Amino acid sequence: MSVPIVRTVAELRTVVAGWRRSGSSVAVVPTMGALHEGHLSLVRAALQKANRVIVTLFVNPKQFNSAADLAAYPRTENQDAAKLAPLGAHLLYVPDAEEMYPAGFATTVSVAAIVEGLCGAFRPGHFDGVATVVAKLFLQTGADFAFFGEKDFQQLRLVMRLVQDLDIPIALVHCPTVREADGLALSSRNARLSPAERAIAPKLPSVLLETADRLARGDPLLATLAEARAAILSAGYREVEYLELRGAADLQPMTSVDRPARLLVAAWLGDTRLIDNVTTSPIGSTN
Ligand code: AMP
Repeated sequence: MSVPIVRTVAELRTVVAGWRRSGSSVAVVPTMGALHEGHLSLVRAALQKANRVIVTLFVNPKQFNSAADLAAYPRTENQDAAKLAPLGAHLLYVPDAEEMYPAGFATTVSVAAIVEGLCGAFRPGHFDGVATVVAKLFLQTGADFAFFGEKDFQQLRLVMRLVQDLDIPIALVHCPTVREADGLALSSRNARLSPAERAIAPKLPSVLLETADRLARGDPLLATLAEARAAILSAGYREVEYLELRGAADLQPMTSVDRPARLLVAAWLGDTRLIDNVTTSPIGSTN
């Protein structure tokens, strides 16, 4: 069985209205396509929660900082559809840029504070692009539930703030990061790594986990983070954009692990930018 595809807001609304008439609940899983097990884990979780699941594939030009990065982003609609069919997803929504941003489009959704620092500092405008497209996808689908991965932790917090601030009637569900056997977080960008880079890549999550553990045990923040940066670079990464300890709930900078926290990183391996994050909590806490 193949998954039906719609490409316009009007077609999408017609399908969803039919589902609503029969009393179905609806979940949406927003993605940029090039689907991997991380995305599929969100779809499986959505299928557990709602009667009908929409997967969106849209490589959102507004969230790319560089034209080259946008052009290089993989577009694999046929393979994506083939991966979704056996899962039982109900609809693929694949708008093009003109459908999403028709001539005259002039609105930007911007979430303050959460976007400061981390990826926000290195990707100007990125989170405005994310907030704008996510708000549109929520309004277009009218879904009851939306599923996001913890892999993009700052994005997750941004979307939570957006939904709360704009009173959007949708429940957010977040799912843990899916990893390769060697610990590397699944990402559409991993396909760009050369075999040599792919061999080095898992050093990032291993340093992250070790550092999170040290911080939870009370090792001093600055020295421990400096050692972690050095370890990432000596493994062969070209640059560490950021490596920071932030509050898990509010993403505020922290100086020690005195409450549930996230250790977040972005680093360049050759020409590929990888991000990751892990949880860390005070030793003995149950969080
Ligand atoms: P993207 O297609 O990269 O925009 O990601 C779409 C959704 O999949 C986002 O909610 C991501 O956080 C989530 N996602 C991406 N990679 C993973 C992963 N390795 N594990 C879990 N969720 C992921």
